[in-house]
Amino acid sequence: MISMTGFLREPAELRTQQVRACQRVIESGWYVLGPEVDAFEAEWAAACGATYAIGVASGMDAVEISLRALGIGAGDEVITTPMTAFASVLAIIRAGAIPVLADIDPATGLLSIDSAQRCLSQRTKAVVLVHLYGQVRDMGRWTSLCSDLGIALVEDCAQSHLATLDGRSAGTFGPIGAFSFYPTKNLGAIGDAGAVLTSDPELAAACRQLRNYGQGLRYHHHRLGLNSRLDEIQAALLRTRLAWLPVFLERRREIANSYALGIDNAHVRQLASPETFDAHVYHQYVVLTDNREAFMHYLASHGIESLIHYPVPVHRQPAARGIQTDPLGLPAAESFSAECVSIPCHPQLTAEEVSHVIDVVQGWPGA
Ligand SMILES: *Cc1c(COP(=O)(O)O)cnc(C)c1O
Repeated sequence: MISMTGFLREPAELRTQQVRACQRVIESGWYVLGPEVDAFEAEWAAACGATYAIGVASGMDAVEISLRALGIGAGDEVITTPMTAFASVLAIIRAGAIPVLADIDPATGLLSIDSAQRCLSQRTKAVVLVHLYGQVRDMGRWTSLCSDLGIALVEDCAQSHLATLDGRSAGTFGPIGAFSFYPTKNLGAIGDAGAVLTSDPELAAACRQLRNYGQGLRYHHHRLGLNSRLDEIQAALLRTRLAWLPVFLERRREIANSYALGIDNAHVRQLASPETFDAHVYHQYVVLTDNREAFMHYLASHGIESLIHYPVPVHRQPAARGIQTDPLGLPAAESFSAECVSIPCHPQLTAEEVSHVIDVVQGWPGA
């Protein structure tokens, strides 16, 4: 089976380095928020071209902490997309704010600027912009819109590590960006982890307090924070894996390029190409097809795993009943979620596997 992830096939050298990283931490006698976390934070901030990274326990916490550091909470509205991990929206609710869902652009699956503008109100304080599948796009328009309105641009970069546009890295277009290092993400830990990225010293200080019970000096609490600390083993593993990220990213782009060139089937629609080569990191490679269930069965019968990101848009989730949306509804998100399929695009795929995926997709008769 050609699967959606390839952890067990990673290079032996990486495996050995990871074991050594864990051993280093175990033998250090220091396990939560220590020198490995400090070093990873500095390395990740530098990789992204920001001043500060603050390690936290998950991507969802990173979004919540970003909003709370900005002072966004009760009564404030935050515009975001229904085509995302539920965590993006749950984080807004957990921060005490009110999510308002705007529709997407059907060519990319990304938040539509026109729809976001219909969702604005006097209470709007931020946009949580999700760089879905690894795409950063239209950032000039998003940054001007937010600065003209005096609202915060919070980037959800859980899928877009090191995606760059106009010389800037995902997470640095607005005041603050949130990252997940869940194992399947392009940069993943071997467990849960996340980070907030900012170049504003006050926001960085607020995030450091918020991740640790709102504590400033030890046992002195300035805010009602979370327990969202990053542990030393995950930080040491992330440092090890960060060194491999450029190689793995390059491979994702090669695979995506083969798919973009090789897949040409009237029943399988491709998303719009990225604005520039660097503006997509292919966390997922997504195509659209009408008869999705049959397509996925067909792929499986030819030894190819596939997944749906995401089958149920956030406003159709039972837990999100009554959530506010664009007054015109979210028709693009509804059709997109009914048609999108993610095909294998991880760095451990072989050239033969990539060719096999292309041949099989090319052979799909559409029903
Ligand atoms: C994975 C993901 C999250 C949540 O990250 P966790 O580390 O699982 O909490 C948030 N937003 C997006 C877009 C994601 O893909």
